[in-house]
Amino acid sequence: MLPTEDKSFVSQSSPLEQRIGQALLWHGKDYEALCSTFSWKAAGRQLDGLPEGGLNIAYEAVDRHVMWNGCEKTAIRWLGKSGNCRDISYADLARDTARFASVLDHLGIEQGERVFALMGREPALYVTALGTLRRGAVFCPLFSAFGPDPIKARISIGEGAVLVTTKAFYQKKIAHIRGELPTLKHVLIVGDADDLPDDTLSFDTLLAAGDPGFPVAQTRPHDMALLHFTSGTTGKPKGAFHVHEAVLAHHVSAQYALDLRKDDIIWCTADPGWVTGTSYGIIAPLTTGATMIVDEAEFNPERWYTILQDQKVTVWYSAPTAIRMLMKAGGDLAREYDLSALRFLASVGEPLNPEAVIWSADVFGKPFHDNWWQTETGAIMIGNLAIGDIKPGSMGRPLPGIDAGIVELREDGSVREITSAGEVGELALRPGWPSMFRGYLHETARYEKCFKGGWYLSGDLAMRDTDGYYWFVGRADDMIKSSGHLIGPFEVESALVAHDAVAEAAVIGVPDERAGEVVKAFVTLHHGIEPDETTRRDILAHVRRSLGAAVAPRVIEFADELPKTRSGKIMRRLLKARELGLPEGDTSTLETFK
Ligand code: ATP
Ligand code: MG
Repeated sequence: MLPTEDKSFVSQSSPLEQRIGQALLWHGKDYEALCSTFSWKAAGRQLDGLPEGGLNIAYEAVDRHVMWNGCEKTAIRWLGKSGNCRDISYADLARDTARFASVLDHLGIEQGERVFALMGREPALYVTALGTLRRGAVFCPLFSAFGPDPIKARISIGEGAVLVTTKAFYQKKIAHIRGELPTLKHVLIVGDADDLPDDTLSFDTLLAAGDPGFPVAQTRPHDMALLHFTSGTTGKPKGAFHVHEAVLAHHVSAQYALDLRKDDIIWCTADPGWVTGTSYGIIAPLTTGATMIVDEAEFNPERWYTILQDQKVTVWYSAPTAIRMLMKAGGDLAREYDLSALRFLASVGEPLNPEAVIWSADVFGKPFHDNWWQTETGAIMIGNLAIGDIKPGSMGRPLPGIDAGIVELREDGSVREITSAGEVGELALRPGWPSMFRGYLHETARYEKCFKGGWYLSGDLAMRDTDGYYWFVGRADDMIKSSGHLIGPFEVESALVAHDAVAEAAVIGVPDERAGEVVKAFVTLHHGIEPDETTRRDILAHVRRSLGAAVAPRVIEFADELPKTRSGKIMRRLLKARELGLPEGDTSTLETFK
């Protein structure tokens, strides 16, 4: 059964402060007690709902704070590339997002129409996102490094009506494909309004003339709000859409999995081009009433540590690729900074090697809490939560309200739940949580295929231990079958990374006459280490010792870099295609490969 029934989780009740107080009551509980007493309906009391009925993410994120508190508090502290800084208060955001909603209205954009954004992490991006939601239109972010083809594909699938971008991006990436985008009614250019390209409008001029009191659209909980394309790690990206009630899952999951509270300064390092950067880099921090850091610049270890120190960041949400790069830069660099304000560190996007958890505990005095979710799930589903122990190398336990399981798909098409600990199967979730995707746009059959036997099937393989913690094994597509063993790449990669010389590793299966497949590893080394035979032999011996010869890689190839998606995930399918001389498939989200 697909979860389409219209149940509202949100009811208006007590004032905000009181509800935030209720939200924090869980701090005194243990995990089991928390899960057994949790209900989405009760959690819905933490949201306001619209005064006239209905639910709108932008209202929960911005307006309600202004309603209850007046709110000159800083919502966004924006750090520009060149060292400039701008504070945007909740009241500023309310005014500007109302203005932008009125601009969309003025341009004839109706509820449900899609508004795309293509720009760096600049203030206008946040106004566009929240103003679009406020209008009742659907926000769809595009990662700014995309070239014209992936942009065209996404705007076409999403039938984008409006694109908000910059002059430079327009000239470089849009002007010559504009004629191929028939749904696009308006292109709004952020920044300098002089010499605008033909067929475009000035975002800044329109915004200045917008109505700062424009009302919030009366959206319902099940109205479409966000369209997100997946990372394209396993193939062609899919356009997953979410509805307004997703905000409830963003809001409560941030409490349990990020320990986020009203007085926090949170820095989610993900770009809003990806779902993490929207759910936890825009929505959850604001619904909580916290202050969020937005850094316009790209990754750089010194800059990152400076931000953590100077901004007194308390909650830091990042990803394994960045963490491994910080490890590569060395713990001594981190120790030069005062990072004592940090209270909670979390990671998502790829498996977090146990090495990285232990390293962070050593260097920051606090370990990274790994958590698992997908574009499709809209919010964190499994995590090493703020309560309970961290298990390094594990993704943690299901969040309250999330019913997860490990299942086996049988040949006759039925689904068996695996209840015994330690058995590998597909990670699955019982449908019905608020941020669950409600479709892949224009791909109904593909959507329906994700649901079987009353489960949503994630496409990831995992196992559960006797304490109920989940352990990532690999994506179903990346599993390696060697001499009758089913080998998950993560286990082998973690063993490789545990060697002092290794910075990053990716393993794939390559065909072998006798074994079916054997494991081949691609490895990047820490700075200053020679990629020579001695190093190779030493790494091989180390992995054989820890995993056994049957599972250890047969071959290790040194690389300068590993191919990654722009959201930082290793693209094993590309390594495999190149290894086997096969077509590379969709590489629209590829970042680098040397
Ligand atoms: P596509 O679906 O287009 O192939 P993608 O699955 O990489 O791309 P996302 O939705 O961005 O797109 O990523 C979700 C996936 O990332 C998960 O299904 C899982 O494979 C991986 N992932 C996320 N968090 C973790 C984690 N903590 N541990 C292991 N894997 C993770
Ligand atoms: Mg996926």
